[in-house]
Amino acid sequence: MSEAKEKKGLALHWQILIGIGLGVVAGILLCKITPYENWSVYIKWVGDIFLRALQMIVIPLVFTSIALGVAGMGDSASLGRIAGKTILYYIVTTAIAATIGLTLVNLVKPGVGANLNLAEKATSVSTGEISFIDQIVSIVPSNIFESMAKGDLLPIIFFAVVFGFFMNKVAEQHTNTLKELFTAVYEVIMKITMFIIRLAPIGVFAIVANTVGQQAGNPQALLSMAGSLGVFVLVVWGGLLLQGGVVLPLLVRVLGKQNPWRHIAKMSTALLTAFSTCSSGAALPINIRDSQEKCGISNKIASFVLPLGSTINMNGTALYECVTAIFIAQAYGIDLTLAQQVMIVFTALLAAIGTAGIPMAGMVMLTIVLTAVGLPLEGIGLVLAVEQFCDMPRTCINTYGDSCGAVIIAHSEGEHLTI
Ligand code: ASP
Repeated sequence: MSEAKEKKGLALHWQILIGIGLGVVAGILLCKITPYENWSVYIKWVGDIFLRALQMIVIPLVFTSIALGVAGMGDSASLGRIAGKTILYYIVTTAIAATIGLTLVNLVKPGVGANLNLAEKATSVSTGEISFIDQIVSIVPSNIFESMAKGDLLPIIFFAVVFGFFMNKVAEQHTNTLKELFTAVYEVIMKITMFIIRLAPIGVFAIVANTVGQQAGNPQALLSMAGSLGVFVLVVWGGLLLQGGVVLPLLVRVLGKQNPWRHIAKMSTALLTAFSTCSSGAALPINIRDSQEKCGISNKIASFVLPLGSTINMNGTALYECVTAIFIAQAYGIDLTLAQQVMIVFTALLAAIGTAGIPMAGMVMLTIVLTAVGLPLEGIGLVLAVEQFCDMPRTCINTYGDSCGAVIIAHSEGEHLTI
């Protein structure tokens, strides 16, 4: 869909914002009239269909766009260069985010004196373990169809890169056949993406109404916000605002030589989708489309940097993990040494890399950070009540970080952007 076509009516991001606003109002009103369970059945399915439709296109989109993008790079030198820059950018920005979280939570100390009786039982939380070697090994799929069926993006990306690379190594006629086939599939998927995106305001309305209804039907979450949990949420939002409102825009300005505010405006549909769905995986198709159509980033860069980012680059999640681990330590009166704090930053980075782009995944990965420094896992029960308030903004920053990476890398490759 061209921008001009979108402009005929109310721009899509406004429609989505209205969807979010109406969703909040509907969630509260419906909860006042009748219990959440009674009405949620009629609304929840709409949001579920929207989310599932977005997930439906992720794998074919990622596979065809990466294979095409890598084949388009031509030589292994440019693939290596772009991959190297992308990974460096992701590691550095995630480390900055984690450090911001660490600094803020140490300054504000929201956990000191927190009421531990408020902790919800975190029964479903099991200990996770992270092994760097295992993470690397699991990137290579033993069965690509199994990875596709499970929706494991990293092995799919790996296979797509290898496939795209070797697409150029066969007889020219085969290379051309494959390129034509993949281009055709990619274009069909993009058309489907556009169709689904047009339904975003309705999908987002249903998701938000349902989420707000769930919270409104469970006033404990809102009540607990009055105390130290409220300060905790503010620290998370403050850190995310610093990362998303200062650090990343500065990088877009200095390294990407683009106007960061115009960039945010162009990416607003993807950012609002991430915010309201709590899934950077769901926002990925929109991110890929708008990066190309609105920002002028080539398919070669967008299709490589963004899918990779949606799985390994989680600025918001890393920041959240740091803040939460230290909040829990503060609440339990555990003093952490500097070495332990550095360990938290490091494991938060690894945990963020391993986090899937789905709702609440970051909270599950928190067990890894807590285990690494010996903090009580029950601490997760403390922050469970406010998970929704933290997942929304951190997912938005996760998606924004990927988009900034695409801008910066495209600029560094000499692309002419239209931001
Ligand atoms: N919901 C986040 C995302 O999709 C992951 C997380 O839970 O931190 O990016």
